[in-house]
Amino acid sequence: MRPRLTRYQMIAGVTLCAAALIVIFLHGAARYWWLAAFCSLSGLCVGLGVSFPQWQMFGDGICAVATKRKIVALTFDDGPDAENTPALLALLAERKVRATFFCIGKRVAQQPELVKRMVAEGHGIENHTFLHSPRTNIFSVRRLRGELTQAQTEIGRVAGRAPEFFRPPACLTSPRIFRVTGELGLKVAGYTARGLDRRTDAPENIAGRLLRKLQPGAIFLLHDAGVPRERLLAVVALLLDKLESEGYQCARLDELIAE
Ligand SMILES: [Zn+2]
Repeated sequence: MRPRLTRYQMIAGVTLCAAALIVIFLHGAARYWWLAAFCSLSGLCVGLGVSFPQWQMFGDGICAVATKRKIVALTFDDGPDAENTPALLALLAERKVRATFFCIGKRVAQQPELVKRMVAEGHGIENHTFLHSPRTNIFSVRRLRGELTQAQTEIGRVAGRAPEFFRPPACLTSPRIFRVTGELGLKVAGYTARGLDRRTDAPENIAGRLLRKLQPGAIFLLHDAGVPRERLLAVVALLLDKLESEGYQCARLDELIAE
C-alpha cells in the first residue's frame, strides 16, 4: 500500500501547482503579488503545523486517543529532576496514579536510581532526546538520529525497556522528526492540552488549561523539571482531585493507546 500524503506534502504540492498557474496566466505586478500572497499563506500554515502537533502536518502524532472510557494520560517532560521528581512520585503513589515521563537521556544517565524507582512504581519512561537542544527540530537527519538513538540506548539500559514514544522538545515537529522516529520505530507523542507550566502562573490557571480540554482519551502535558516544586505538586493535586470527582482514571500512554 502506498503511504498516504502528509498535509505538508499536500500543501507543498498545491503551492507548486498554484505558483505554476500564476506564472502562466498572470503578468506584471499581479503575478508577484499573487505569488507572494500564496507562498506566505502556505508558509504560515506550515509554520503553525510545526508548532501545533494537533495539526498533524508532517505525520500522525498521538495527541489524543479515541475511547469512550473516562481515562486520560498524565505526561511529564524534561526530568528526571533530583528535587521535583521524587516529590511528584510520592504524590502519584499516594493517589495510586501511573504517569508517563518524557525524560532527557542525559538526565537519565545522571540519575539511574531515580529512574529505576520510577519504573518500579509503574510509570512509563519515554524519549525526550538526549540533550534537549532547542535546535532539535532543525538538526540534520543524521544528528537527529544520533540524538534519539543515544536517548533510546541510555533509557533502555537504565529503565530496562527502550522507549516506545518520542516527544520533541517544545513539541515542535518537522518532516525529519517523523522520518527518524519512523526509522527507529518510535511513535510521536503530542498532547491534547498543555499546562504552559513554565509561565509564572497560579496552579488553578495551569490545571484549568488542562481541564478545559478534559475528554476521554486526553493526553495532558506538564513538566517535572524547570518548574517550582510546590507549584508542580499543587497543580497535580488539583488535577487529580478534579479527575477523580469527574470519574476519570489515569493511565500510562502505552496503556491509553491500547484502549
Ligand atoms: Zn522538553
